[in-house]
Amino acid sequence: MKCIVYKGKEHMALEDHPMPTIQDPADVLLRVTMSAICGSDLHAYNEDRAGQGQVMGHEFIGIVEEVGPRVERLKPGDRVVLPFGLGCGACFYCKRGWHPQCPHYQRFGLGSLPGGQAQYVRVPMADANAVHLPPELPDETAVLLSDILCTGYFCAEQGSIRPGDYVAVVGCGPVGMMAQMAAHLFGPALVIAIDTVPYRLDTARYLWGAVPLNAAEPSLRERVLALTEGRGADVVLEAVGTEGRGLDTAFEVVRPAGTISMVGVPTVDTYTYPLRKAYTLDLTYKVGRCPARRYIEQLIPLLQTGRIHPERIITHVLPLDQAPEGYRIFASREPGVMKVLLKP
Ligand code: NAD
Ligand code: ZN
Repeated sequence: MKCIVYKGKEHMALEDHPMPTIQDPADVLLRVTMSAICGSDLHAYNEDRAGQGQVMGHEFIGIVEEVGPRVERLKPGDRVVLPFGLGCGACFYCKRGWHPQCPHYQRFGLGSLPGGQAQYVRVPMADANAVHLPPELPDETAVLLSDILCTGYFCAEQGSIRPGDYVAVVGCGPVGMMAQMAAHLFGPALVIAIDTVPYRLDTARYLWGAVPLNAAEPSLRERVLALTEGRGADVVLEAVGTEGRGLDTAFEVVRPAGTISMVGVPTVDTYTYPLRKAYTLDLTYKVGRCPARRYIEQLIPLLQTGRIHPERIITHVLPLDQAPEGYRIFASREPGVMKVLLKP
Protein backbone atom coordinates (compact mmCIF):
# COMPACT_ATOMS: atom_id res chain seq x y z
CA MET A 1 0.00 0.00 0.00
CA LYS A 2 1.00 3.60 -0.53
CA CYS A 3 1.96 5.66 2.54
CA ILE A 4 3.84 8.80 3.55
CA VAL A 5 6.98 8.20 5.59
CA TYR A 6 9.04 10.58 7.74
CA LYS A 7 12.65 10.66 6.53
CA GLY A 8 13.97 13.65 8.49
CA LYS A 9 14.04 17.42 8.14
CA GLU A 10 11.90 18.66 5.23
CA HIS A 11 11.73 15.16 3.84
CA MET A 12 8.51 13.17 3.57
CA ALA A 13 8.51 10.29 1.09
CA LEU A 14 5.82 8.34 -0.71
CA GLU A 15 6.62 4.64 -0.12
CA ASP A 16 5.11 1.26 -0.79
CA HIS A 17 4.70 -0.74 2.45
CA PRO A 18 3.12 -4.14 3.16
CA MET A 19 -0.59 -3.98 4.03
CA PRO A 20 -1.19 -3.75 7.81
CA THR A 21 -2.94 -6.76 9.32
CA ILE A 22 -5.09 -7.52 12.38
CA GLN A 23 -2.65 -8.23 15.23
CA ASP A 24 -4.92 -8.16 18.26
CA PRO A 25 -8.53 -9.40 18.58
CA ALA A 26 -9.68 -5.82 19.32
CA ASP A 27 -8.12 -4.38 16.11
CA VAL A 28 -9.84 -3.27 12.96
CA LEU A 29 -8.25 -2.65 9.60
CA LEU A 30 -9.40 0.63 8.08
CA ARG A 31 -9.33 1.72 4.42
CA VAL A 32 -8.52 5.42 4.63
CA THR A 33 -10.78 7.67 2.56
CA MET A 34 -9.35 11.04 3.70
CA SER A 35 -6.43 12.21 5.80
CA ALA A 36 -4.83 15.55 6.60
CA ILE A 37 -1.55 17.24 7.45
CA CYS A 38 -1.48 18.80 10.93
CA GLY A 39 0.62 21.58 12.41
CA SER A 40 1.88 18.88 14.81
CA ASP A 41 3.37 17.05 11.82
CA LEU A 42 5.37 20.20 11.07
CA HIS A 43 7.31 19.92 14.36
CA ALA A 44 8.99 16.87 12.81
CA TYR A 45 9.07 18.28 9.29
CA ASN A 46 10.88 21.44 10.37
CA GLU A 47 13.82 19.67 12.02
CA ASP A 48 15.37 16.22 12.42
CA ARG A 49 13.48 14.31 15.11
CA ALA A 50 13.10 10.74 16.31
CA GLY A 51 10.69 8.58 14.33
CA GLN A 52 12.41 8.45 10.95
CA GLY A 53 10.93 5.62 8.89
CA GLN A 54 7.48 5.89 10.51
CA VAL A 55 4.24 6.30 8.59
CA MET A 56 2.85 9.81 9.20
CA GLY A 57 -0.65 11.03 9.93
CA HIS A 58 -2.99 11.18 12.91
CA GLU A 59 -5.95 12.89 11.20
CA PHE A 60 -7.96 10.47 9.08
CA ILE A 61 -11.30 8.78 8.48
CA GLY A 62 -12.16 5.64 6.58
CA ILE A 63 -14.21 2.53 5.98
CA VAL A 64 -13.81 -0.57 8.12
CA GLU A 65 -12.32 -3.30 5.94
CA GLU A 66 -11.82 -6.13 8.43
CA VAL A 67 -12.54 -6.64 12.14
CA GLY A 68 -10.79 -8.71 14.82
CA PRO A 69 -12.75 -11.45 16.63
CA ARG A 70 -13.38 -9.38 19.77
CA VAL A 71 -14.77 -6.31 17.95
CA GLU A 72 -18.50 -5.85 18.64
CA ARG A 73 -19.53 -2.32 17.64
CA LEU A 74 -18.00 -2.26 14.16
CA LYS A 75 -18.40 -4.26 10.98
CA PRO A 76 -16.90 -4.15 7.50
CA GLY A 77 -18.35 -1.23 5.52
CA ASP A 78 -18.84 1.07 8.53
CA ARG A 79 -17.64 4.65 7.95
CA VAL A 80 -15.81 5.97 11.00
CA VAL A 81 -13.54 8.67 12.39
CA LEU A 82 -10.77 7.99 14.91
CA PRO A 83 -9.46 10.47 17.47
CA PHE A 84 -5.74 11.18 16.94
CA GLY A 85 -4.94 9.32 20.15
CA LEU A 86 -6.56 6.18 21.49
CA GLY A 87 -7.48 5.18 25.05
CA CYS A 88 -8.71 1.85 26.38
CA GLY A 89 -12.18 3.25 27.13
CA ALA A 90 -12.42 1.45 30.47
CA CYS A 91 -9.89 2.96 32.89
CA PHE A 92 -10.38 5.76 35.44
CA TYR A 93 -9.28 8.44 32.96
CA CYS A 94 -11.10 7.16 29.87
CA LYS A 95 -14.36 6.93 31.81
CA ARG A 96 -13.94 10.59 32.75
CA GLY A 97 -13.10 11.67 29.19
CA TRP A 98 -9.35 12.12 29.73
CA HIS A 99 -8.14 9.55 27.19
CA PRO A 100 -4.65 11.08 26.83
CA GLN A 101 -4.05 10.08 30.49
CA CYS A 102 -5.00 6.42 29.85
CA PRO A 103 -2.12 4.03 30.68
CA HIS A 104 -2.74 2.42 27.27
CA TYR A 105 -2.85 5.73 25.35
CA GLN A 106 -1.36 5.49 21.86
CA ARG A 107 -1.09 8.08 19.12
CA PHE A 108 -1.00 7.61 15.38
CA GLY A 109 1.76 9.00 13.21
CA LEU A 110 4.85 9.91 15.13
CA GLY A 111 3.33 8.43 18.29
CA SER A 112 3.53 4.69 18.75
CA LEU A 113 1.23 3.62 15.89
CA PRO A 114 1.79 3.74 12.11
CA GLY A 115 -0.28 6.66 10.85
CA GLY A 116 -3.15 7.31 8.50
CA GLN A 117 -1.43 9.17 5.65
CA ALA A 118 -1.71 5.82 3.96
CA GLN A 119 -4.19 3.68 2.07
CA TYR A 120 -4.77 1.41 5.09
CA VAL A 121 -4.21 1.66 8.81
CA ARG A 122 -4.48 -0.78 11.73
CA VAL A 123 -6.65 0.59 14.56
CA PRO A 124 -6.18 -1.00 18.01
CA MET A 125 -8.86 -0.80 20.75
CA ALA A 126 -11.27 -0.03 17.94
CA ASP A 127 -14.59 -0.45 19.78
CA ALA A 128 -13.55 2.12 22.37
CA ASN A 129 -12.39 4.70 19.87
CA ALA A 130 -14.05 4.60 16.44
CA VAL A 131 -17.10 6.86 16.05
CA HIS A 132 -19.63 6.21 13.29
CA LEU A 133 -20.09 9.08 10.86
CA PRO A 134 -23.51 10.17 9.62
CA PRO A 135 -23.67 9.53 5.85
CA GLU A 136 -24.50 13.14 4.98
CA LEU A 137 -21.25 14.44 6.49
CA PRO A 138 -18.71 14.90 3.66
CA ASP A 139 -15.25 13.34 4.08
CA GLU A 140 -13.65 16.80 3.98
CA THR A 141 -15.65 17.95 7.02
CA ALA A 142 -15.54 14.65 8.90
CA VAL A 143 -11.75 14.36 8.82
CA LEU A 144 -11.48 17.57 10.86
CA LEU A 145 -13.13 15.74 13.79
CA SER A 146 -10.08 13.53 14.24
CA ASP A 147 -8.10 16.41 15.74
CA ILE A 148 -8.21 20.11 14.97
CA LEU A 149 -11.96 20.74 15.28
CA CYS A 150 -11.97 18.96 18.65
CA THR A 151 -8.74 20.66 19.70
CA GLY A 152 -10.00 24.14 18.82
CA TYR A 153 -13.21 23.46 20.72
CA PHE A 154 -11.30 22.04 23.70
CA CYS A 155 -9.11 25.16 23.75
CA ALA A 156 -12.15 27.45 23.79
CA GLU A 157 -14.03 25.35 26.35
CA GLN A 158 -11.12 25.15 28.78
CA GLY A 159 -10.79 28.95 28.43
CA SER A 160 -14.19 29.19 30.18
CA ILE A 161 -15.31 32.04 27.92
CA ARG A 162 -18.33 33.90 29.26
CA PRO A 163 -20.84 35.92 27.22
CA GLY A 164 -19.44 39.38 26.56
CA ASP A 165 -15.80 38.38 27.05
CA TYR A 166 -12.95 39.75 24.99
CA VAL A 167 -11.16 36.74 23.56
CA ALA A 168 -7.73 36.82 21.93
CA VAL A 169 -6.54 33.85 19.88
CA VAL A 170 -2.77 33.61 19.46
CA GLY A 171 -1.98 31.73 16.25
CA CYS A 172 -4.09 31.68 13.09
CA GLY A 173 -3.08 28.29 11.73
CA PRO A 174 -5.74 25.59 11.36
CA VAL A 175 -5.97 25.04 15.14
CA GLY A 176 -6.24 28.76 15.87
CA MET A 177 -8.94 28.97 13.17
CA MET A 178 -10.92 26.23 14.91
CA ALA A 179 -10.44 27.91 18.28
CA GLN A 180 -11.80 31.17 16.89
CA MET A 181 -14.81 29.43 15.38
CA ALA A 182 -15.46 27.55 18.63
CA ALA A 183 -15.04 30.71 20.75
CA HIS A 184 -18.14 32.14 19.08
CA LEU A 185 -20.24 29.30 20.51
CA PHE A 186 -19.66 30.84 23.97
CA GLY A 187 -20.87 34.36 23.12
CA PRO A 188 -17.79 36.60 23.26
CA ALA A 189 -18.14 40.33 22.61
CA LEU A 190 -15.11 40.26 20.35
CA VAL A 191 -12.53 37.83 19.02
CA ILE A 192 -9.06 39.23 18.36
CA ALA A 193 -6.84 37.15 16.05
CA ILE A 194 -3.07 37.39 16.45
CA ASP A 195 -0.46 36.05 14.03
CA THR A 196 2.46 37.32 11.98
CA VAL A 197 1.34 36.07 8.55
CA PRO A 198 -0.89 38.58 6.70
CA TYR A 199 -2.80 35.94 4.71
CA ARG A 200 -3.69 34.07 7.91
CA LEU A 201 -4.84 37.28 9.60
CA ASP A 202 -6.98 38.15 6.56
CA THR A 203 -8.50 34.65 6.71
CA ALA A 204 -9.39 35.09 10.40
CA ARG A 205 -11.21 38.32 9.63
CA TYR A 206 -12.93 36.95 6.54
CA LEU A 207 -14.05 33.62 8.03
CA TRP A 208 -14.92 34.48 11.62
CA GLY A 209 -15.11 38.28 11.77
CA ALA A 210 -12.07 38.48 14.04
CA VAL A 211 -10.16 41.75 14.53
CA PRO A 212 -6.72 40.84 13.15
CA LEU A 213 -3.53 42.06 14.85
CA ASN A 214 -0.07 41.45 13.46
CA ALA A 215 2.26 40.40 16.29
CA ALA A 216 5.29 41.42 14.20
CA GLU A 217 4.26 45.08 14.34
CA PRO A 218 5.13 47.17 17.40
CA SER A 219 3.06 47.61 20.57
CA LEU A 220 0.79 44.60 20.30
CA ARG A 221 -0.23 45.05 23.93
CA GLU A 222 -1.28 48.67 23.35
CA ARG A 223 -3.43 47.62 20.41
CA VAL A 224 -5.11 44.89 22.48
CA LEU A 225 -5.72 47.33 25.36
CA ALA A 226 -7.37 49.73 22.91
CA LEU A 227 -9.85 46.99 21.94
CA THR A 228 -10.58 45.78 25.49
CA GLU A 229 -11.48 48.88 27.53
CA GLY A 230 -7.86 49.19 28.58
CA ARG A 231 -7.78 45.85 30.41
CA GLY A 232 -6.44 43.15 28.06
CA ALA A 233 -8.15 39.99 26.88
CA ASP A 234 -10.36 38.18 29.40
CA VAL A 235 -9.45 34.88 27.78
CA VAL A 236 -6.44 34.08 25.59
CA LEU A 237 -6.45 30.92 23.47
CA GLU A 238 -2.91 29.87 22.57
CA ALA A 239 -2.56 27.80 19.37
CA VAL A 240 1.11 28.25 18.48
CA GLY A 241 3.40 26.13 20.66
CA THR A 242 6.75 26.85 22.25
CA GLU A 243 8.76 27.04 19.00
CA GLY A 244 6.84 30.20 18.07
CA ARG A 245 6.82 31.38 21.72
CA GLY A 246 3.06 31.83 21.59
CA LEU A 247 2.81 31.73 25.40
CA ASP A 248 4.92 34.91 25.61
CA THR A 249 2.41 36.59 23.31
CA ALA A 250 -0.46 35.26 25.42
CA PHE A 251 1.05 36.75 28.60
CA GLU A 252 1.50 40.05 26.76
CA VAL A 253 -2.20 40.41 25.99
CA VAL A 254 -4.05 38.72 28.88
CA ARG A 255 -5.77 40.90 31.49
CA PRO A 256 -5.19 40.56 35.25
CA ALA A 257 -7.30 37.69 36.67
CA GLY A 258 -7.77 36.42 33.12
CA THR A 259 -7.35 32.95 31.65
CA ILE A 260 -4.83 31.49 29.22
CA SER A 261 -5.84 28.22 27.58
CA MET A 262 -2.98 26.63 25.67
CA VAL A 263 -3.09 23.81 23.12
CA GLY A 264 0.11 24.67 21.22
CA VAL A 265 2.59 21.83 21.77
CA PRO A 266 5.60 22.42 24.02
CA THR A 267 8.43 21.09 21.88
CA VAL A 268 11.12 23.17 23.59
CA ASP A 269 12.34 21.88 26.98
CA THR A 270 14.03 25.09 28.01
CA TYR A 271 10.97 27.34 27.97
CA THR A 272 10.59 29.48 31.08
CA TYR A 273 7.02 29.77 32.31
CA PRO A 274 6.63 33.24 33.87
CA LEU A 275 5.46 31.91 37.22
CA ARG A 276 5.92 35.16 39.12
CA LYS A 277 3.94 37.07 36.49
CA ALA A 278 1.18 34.45 36.63
CA TYR A 279 1.07 34.77 40.41
CA THR A 280 0.98 38.54 40.35
CA LEU A 281 -1.76 38.55 37.72
CA ASP A 282 -3.99 36.00 39.55
CA LEU A 283 -3.91 34.12 36.30
CA THR A 284 -5.69 30.89 35.40
CA TYR A 285 -3.56 28.74 33.09
CA LYS A 286 -4.87 25.59 31.46
CA VAL A 287 -2.93 23.40 29.07
CA GLY A 288 -3.05 19.98 27.57
CA ARG A 289 -3.41 17.46 24.82
CA CYS A 290 -6.98 17.37 23.53
CA PRO A 291 -9.03 14.33 24.54
CA ALA A 292 -10.54 14.26 21.05
CA ARG A 293 -12.58 11.12 21.68
CA ARG A 294 -14.68 13.09 24.19
CA TYR A 295 -15.58 15.83 21.71
CA ILE A 296 -16.22 13.95 18.47
CA GLU A 297 -19.74 12.87 19.45
CA GLN A 298 -20.53 16.29 20.96
CA LEU A 299 -19.56 18.12 17.78
CA ILE A 300 -21.20 15.92 15.14
CA PRO A 301 -24.68 17.40 15.83
CA LEU A 302 -23.30 20.93 15.36
CA LEU A 303 -21.98 19.88 11.96
CA GLN A 304 -25.27 18.24 11.03
CA THR A 305 -27.30 21.34 11.82
CA GLY A 306 -24.83 23.69 10.10
CA ARG A 307 -24.15 25.50 13.38
CA ILE A 308 -20.41 25.37 12.63
CA HIS A 309 -18.54 25.26 9.31
CA PRO A 310 -14.97 24.14 9.99
CA GLU A 311 -14.56 23.03 6.36
CA ARG A 312 -14.21 26.71 5.40
CA ILE A 313 -10.51 26.51 6.30
CA ILE A 314 -9.74 23.76 3.76
CA THR A 315 -7.68 25.19 0.93
CA HIS A 316 -6.21 22.01 -0.63
CA VAL A 317 -7.35 18.45 -1.23
CA LEU A 318 -4.35 16.71 -2.81
CA PRO A 319 -3.90 13.10 -3.90
CA LEU A 320 -1.87 11.16 -1.30
CA ASP A 321 0.99 10.89 -3.82
CA GLN A 322 1.40 14.65 -3.64
CA ALA A 323 1.81 14.73 0.16
CA PRO A 324 5.51 15.76 -0.02
CA GLU A 325 4.42 18.89 -1.91
CA GLY A 326 1.51 19.30 0.53
CA TYR A 327 3.97 19.38 3.43
CA ARG A 328 6.15 21.89 1.63
CA ILE A 329 3.36 24.38 0.97
CA PHE A 330 1.75 23.96 4.43
CA ALA A 331 5.10 24.49 6.18
CA SER A 332 5.82 27.56 4.03
CA ARG A 333 2.60 29.28 5.27
CA GLU A 334 2.41 30.86 1.82
CA PRO A 335 -0.68 32.89 0.87
CA GLY A 336 -3.64 30.72 -0.05
CA VAL A 337 -2.61 27.74 2.11
CA MET A 338 -4.46 26.89 5.33
CA LYS A 339 -5.58 23.25 5.71
CA VAL A 340 -4.21 20.56 3.43
CA LEU A 341 -6.12 17.28 3.06
CA LEU A 342 -4.76 14.13 1.41
CA LYS A 343 -6.98 11.76 -0.52
CA PRO A 344 -5.61 8.21 -0.91
P1 NAD B 1 0.51 26.00 12.25
O1 NAD B 1 1.96 25.84 12.39
O2 NAD B 1 -0.11 25.92 10.91
O3 NAD B 1 0.03 27.39 12.91
C1 NAD B 1 0.73 28.10 13.87
C2 NAD B 1 0.51 29.61 13.61
O4 NAD B 1 1.09 30.37 14.66
C3 NAD B 1 1.14 30.10 12.32
O5 NAD B 1 0.16 30.76 11.54
C4 NAD B 1 2.23 31.05 12.80
O6 NAD B 1 2.45 32.11 11.88
C5 NAD B 1 1.67 31.53 14.11
N1 NAD B 1 2.63 32.06 15.09
C6 NAD B 1 3.89 31.64 15.34
N2 NAD B 1 4.42 32.34 16.36
C7 NAD B 1 3.47 33.22 16.77
C8 NAD B 1 3.40 34.20 17.81
N3 NAD B 1 4.42 34.38 18.68
N4 NAD B 1 2.28 34.93 17.94
C9 NAD B 1 1.23 34.71 17.11
N5 NAD B 1 1.22 33.79 16.13
C10 NAD B 1 2.33 33.04 15.96
O7 NAD B 1 -0.10 24.88 13.22
P2 NAD B 1 -1.60 24.43 13.62
O8 NAD B 1 -1.98 23.23 12.82
O9 NAD B 1 -2.54 25.57 13.64
O10 NAD B 1 -1.28 23.93 15.12
C11 NAD B 1 -0.96 24.88 16.13
C12 NAD B 1 -0.37 24.20 17.35
O11 NAD B 1 -1.34 23.32 17.94
C13 NAD B 1 0.85 23.31 17.07
O12 NAD B 1 1.78 23.43 18.12
C14 NAD B 1 0.26 21.92 17.08
O13 NAD B 1 1.21 20.93 17.37
C15 NAD B 1 -0.73 22.08 18.20
N6 NAD B 1 -1.76 21.02 18.33
C16 NAD B 1 -2.08 20.65 19.60
C17 NAD B 1 -3.04 19.70 19.82
C18 NAD B 1 -3.41 19.33 21.22
O14 NAD B 1 -4.04 18.30 21.44
N7 NAD B 1 -3.06 20.13 22.23
C19 NAD B 1 -3.70 19.11 18.74
C20 NAD B 1 -3.36 19.55 17.44
C21 NAD B 1 -2.39 20.50 17.25
ZN1 ZN C 1 -3.24 16.99 14.41
